[in-house]
Amino acid sequence: LYNQLQDLKGNIRVYCRVRPFLPGQASGSTTVDRVEERNITILTPSKNGKDAKKAFTFNKVFGPTATQETVSHIIDLDIILSFMLHFSAAEVYADMQPLVRSVLDGYNVCIFAYGQTGAGKTHTMTGPNNPTEETYGVNYRALNDLFCITQQRKETISYEVSVQMMEIYNEQVRDLLATNEIRNGSVNGINVPDANRLPVSTTSDVINLMNMGHKNRAVSSTAMNDRSSRSHSCMTVHVEGKDLTSGAILRGCMHLVDLAGSERVDKSEVTGDRLKEAQHINKSLAALGDVIASLASKSTHVPYRNSKLTQLLQDSLGGQAKTLMFVHISPELDAVGETISTLKFAERVSTI
Ligand code: ADP
Ligand code: MG
Repeated sequence: LYNQLQDLKGNIRVYCRVRPFLPGQASGSTTVDRVEERNITILTPSKNGKDAKKAFTFNKVFGPTATQETVSHIIDLDIILSFMLHFSAAEVYADMQPLVRSVLDGYNVCIFAYGQTGAGKTHTMTGPNNPTEETYGVNYRALNDLFCITQQRKETISYEVSVQMMEIYNEQVRDLLATNEIRNGSVNGINVPDANRLPVSTTSDVINLMNMGHKNRAVSSTAMNDRSSRSHSCMTVHVEGKDLTSGAILRGCMHLVDLAGSERVDKSEVTGDRLKEAQHINKSLAALGDVIASLASKSTHVPYRNSKLTQLLQDSLGGQAKTLMFVHISPELDAVGETISTLKFAERVSTI
């Protein structure tokens, strides 16, 4: 049933989420003029005082009051307020749930969080620092959900769920669940050689793994502050289901990718390692955009070979696989340049 619903929606979808102003920030001027269920309008100020408006349409747009959760709270002041402000409020995970569940039916899924640093990618995927049940992001919710369904189906199908965590930094893949570097070599999207793959069966297993991955990521960032925004991190969930009657095996996997910050770095201002990082990031985000755009336009050639990321995920991009590009934007007026380029990227990979 999930897949019937999903198939109607196509294999590539693009969502957009607007971060709220952060506590302590003056929330007066914003570049986000209007958010509706599938549309977002951006105000671009110009020097001559004539502001221009540009509208974009995606599969779904989440305004700044959208929460992480699945369940609706009927009487919620934020939601009432948001209607008054023309912002649509919705719960993020609820819209992703069918996609996540399709993994249990043997589909491969990629979920990407894209956007400039600070726009809310990690908030969507992982949650804030010290998350609670209410504020956990997609990674935790997805696994929790998978465990619920595997439990419900346990009389007919026996499932095993395992997780890998990797980081791609300067086109090198590192295993975050072991401290060794993954050897370059033939990489196949479903089984990444050498990357530790650990079984999980409870949400506390998942939290432990996420903490371990987080720590290993931090260890490598001593020399550079906040390397996390300059590398891609990928949590891959493998699901293997055995039909207890027929013995048939079903495999699916889901990649949850928190991409490196998409902001353009001024080449006149950075040199050395920082410039090299920026070039690797630009190249790999462009390569990802090219791959999804060519899938979206049903082009016969899909340029998977142009980056580590697209090579790694090749088996889960295209064909029967499902892709969700979740782009994030900051509401501030001075972010307008990055916001427009993020939305243009999103528009290019969209099938709408
Ligand atoms: P990114 O990963 O894109 O660099 P973060 O997810 O770290 O951005 O977000 C930057 C800051 O904004 C963090 O403090 C985060 O908790 C906060 N934030 C982001 N999105 C939201 C949101 N939807 N609601 C509340 N706070 C958010
Ligand atoms: Mg982040």
